[in-house]
Amino acid sequence: MVLLAVSSLLALLALLGTLALQPPPAKGTDAPQGEFSAARAAEYLTEFARKPHPLGSAEHTRVREYLARTARELGAEVVVQSGEVVQPDMGSPFPSATVHNVIARLPGENGPDGRDGQGDAGGALLLVAHYDSVPNGPGASDDGAAVAAMLETLRALKASGGVENDVVFLFSDGEELGALGAEFFTREHGLDKFGAVLNWEARGSGGPVMLFETGEGNLPLIDLFAEANPRPVANSLAYEVYKRLPNDSDFTVFRKEGVAGLNSAFIEGFHDYHSRSDTVEQLDRDSMQHHGEAMVGMVRALDGADAEQLRGENGVYFDLFARVLVRYPVSWALPLAGLTLTVLAGLLVWGARRSALRPLRVVAARGRHSARWWRPVPWSTGCGRWRCCSRPTWPRCPWPSRTTGAGSWRRSARSWAASC
Ligand SMILES: [Zn+2]
Repeated sequence: MVLLAVSSLLALLALLGTLALQPPPAKGTDAPQGEFSAARAAEYLTEFARKPHPLGSAEHTRVREYLARTARELGAEVVVQSGEVVQPDMGSPFPSATVHNVIARLPGENGPDGRDGQGDAGGALLLVAHYDSVPNGPGASDDGAAVAAMLETLRALKASGGVENDVVFLFSDGEELGALGAEFFTREHGLDKFGAVLNWEARGSGGPVMLFETGEGNLPLIDLFAEANPRPVANSLAYEVYKRLPNDSDFTVFRKEGVAGLNSAFIEGFHDYHSRSDTVEQLDRDSMQHHGEAMVGMVRALDGADAEQLRGENGVYFDLFARVLVRYPVSWALPLAGLTLTVLAGLLVWGARRSALRPLRVVAARGRHSARWWRPVPWSTGCGRWRCCSRPTWPRCPWPSRTTGAGSWRRSARSWAASC
């Protein structure tokens, strides 16, 4: 009876978790002008994500000119920053190219020098998404959805009375080759005048937008994120996993500079990532709505914030059904773990004394269960690179990743079945 109740409760929680982990519904073109609308963002997206537009292609030039013209029409001050850059931090041979970043600045009421009238006041905010795509796909999700969402965010901010401090929209170039545009921007401009950097990405074509990486000293920014985002999806464990994988984005460059910041992406529909099916039709517009609502919310929460207060202690955080973000300082982690172990030990002792529980049998049963379930794991670990996860049979993938293909999963399943 107790087992049935516990199983039912777990099933109900799993169902609630699945239902809650949805992006907000896309708003139509009739949404109020001061709000973000995925339908309006999609109008920009269909204009520029028609074909692949990798750096150096004619389509890349057309997309760049479209973005600069549109941001200007929306009221931003736009410059195209061009130059040669070498990225020495992302493997040998070093990626290198001539890049063209589109930088759109929405001037704040406080002017370029901030409220205190001094240069480099640190109050400006930097929003980043890359406009180049891979050569084999039109990049509607990666990273077109975020680029279009930034244009719509710019429009919504203008329509709702503007901002106090400058907001700079960086449509970066050459991310797919090794964060070249972000590297060039950082070298030429520096990041001193920015209180925070918000980077937006995609690793698929749908699902909720998840905060998966932060800068150091993240707790104050996590607090703002929790208050500003109506559907906060975040888990500090995700970043611990991510930073051990061989993945980089524009945010890698900003994080190394030590600036406060957040990196967010939607990750469902991974089969569309870096493929010819990364099209406007395939993109889940609800995900673009989530991108935009988070952008507008974060800009409003950070506008006028004291840059000195945006960094503090690192935090541990996780969301409950994408509605509430639980967070606490990382210094609480060990005491909380100690408390949990103490309570568990107390329960075991209490149960043993009442003869309701036999701790040694529980431990032995748990050990047998774990040995069974984890046996096939060595077959399935290690994708190497993201490309190797999506195309494990690609000849240049390292051997372990090729074992993650369908054949390997069948072998793993057979091996697991034989072990049972
Ligand atoms: Zn990307």
